[in-house]
Amino acid sequence: MADNMEPDRIVVLGAGYAGLRCISTLALARRQGLLDARLTLVERHGYHQLITWLHEVACEVIPAERARVPLDRLIPDDQVEIVQAEVTGVDPEQRQVITDKGRMPYSRLVVALGSEPAWPQIPGLRDYALSLRWWHQAVHVRTHVRRQFAKAGRARTRGARRRLARIVIAGGGFTGCQLAGEFAHWLPLLADTYDVPLDDVHLMLVEAEERLLPAWRRWVGRRAEQVLRRKGVDVRLGAPLERVEQEYVVIAGERVPTATLIWAGGIQAPPFLETAGLPTGPQGRVYTDAFLRASGFRDLYVAGDSALAIDARGHVLPATAAQALRQGEHVAKVLLAEAAGASPPPYQARHLAMFISLGGGDAVGDIFGVPVRGRAAGLIKEGVERWYHNMITAALASRDG
Ligand SMILES: Cc1cc2nc3c(=O)[nH]c(=O)nc-3n(C[C@H](O)[C@H](O)[C@H](O)COP(=O)(O)OP(=O)(O)OC[C@H]3O[C@@H](n4cnc5c(N)ncnc54)[C@H](O)[C@@H]3O)c2cc1C
Repeated sequence: MADNMEPDRIVVLGAGYAGLRCISTLALARRQGLLDARLTLVERHGYHQLITWLHEVACEVIPAERARVPLDRLIPDDQVEIVQAEVTGVDPEQRQVITDKGRMPYSRLVVALGSEPAWPQIPGLRDYALSLRWWHQAVHVRTHVRRQFAKAGRARTRGARRRLARIVIAGGGFTGCQLAGEFAHWLPLLADTYDVPLDDVHLMLVEAEERLLPAWRRWVGRRAEQVLRRKGVDVRLGAPLERVEQEYVVIAGERVPTATLIWAGGIQAPPFLETAGLPTGPQGRVYTDAFLRASGFRDLYVAGDSALAIDARGHVLPATAAQALRQGEHVAKVLLAEAAGASPPPYQARHLAMFISLGGGDAVGDIFGVPVRGRAAGLIKEGVERWYHNMITAALASRDG
């Protein structure tokens, strides 16, 4: 890692939806001679993850490898230096990124580190719960659940079998609902494979608030609840998770034996952003100005889940891949405009079309406020995700060719 300050070095942190889009746009501009800056991408994993497919990986709907693409094959190495490292802090005063491999200077920084599960102080939660935020966790959930069903098939007592064949998902937001929808289709197949009577299979989705998808429009949550209940999901609302032990969980005072708890109860931006003195709001996300710079910071931009984007009506925009892509692209445009000595374009924060899959090709969502549901919504969601996957693999094919 270089110790000397480069005259102009743009460092992008995170190769998720926002970071990859940003660095790819900058790399293309550099190749075309529109940008004269050294480009560095810092990412802990050696791959880009298609996170919107993780619940499908976890439930064996798609092969795991489909949901990640190696970074060195996605990013032109003649334009971008890829550093595989864990970012542990940012020092805006010194203009340095702190990583597990040392400090790295920047002249302009793009923080696109996404979000991570928020872990509230629920006894036992961190010790026993699984989560679903990264690719390897999806693979782990899949392996774990399969293993529990295999054990359930061999269990000597009904009590033991029911504990092993019960999945509890805590958190009825985006991740929890999508995961419950896929499990509803997968668990009967597992039960069949391992000779577990269907009566002993139990899928619970518990949410502390009185409705699913509390951060979304009310009708979306109602629709998700109807569909999931119809698929046999035991949806419990106003039911906080209170305690987690190895053999059971306690939900709203009720002791529920289970071998699988998946925590999907909320996200937060990396906590070191706040420690670095960046202006943070709810979920530790960073307030940004009209150009997606961290408010009050001249050379530090934030995009994706780490940023707190607010629309003209004062609503916080949800943390979604679509928002992250749009912001990553916009930050690149701002950087390019600045490099060309032009006025950067302000960012227009707005609600985008969004969809939540509910398993078996079913989904719910809206396009510019118009509700779409059922198979039609599922097809649109699938189409958008395929488009994204194809766009990435097309880039690969053109490089390989
Ligand atoms: C199971 C699941 C399903 C989802 N489904 C959908 C969906 O259908 N539609 C939708 O719009 N949104 C969906 N989302 C939300 C969506 O995935 C996020 O909003 C989106 O990934 C945000 O993009 P981002 O670029 O901000 O962050 P990410 O895509 O998470 O990228 C952040 C990157 O930063 C890297 N990173 C993080 N911390 C560090 C560190 N300390 N050091 C080095 N590297 C680091 C990560 O490895 C990652 O590559 C889903 C989320 C989950 C968990």
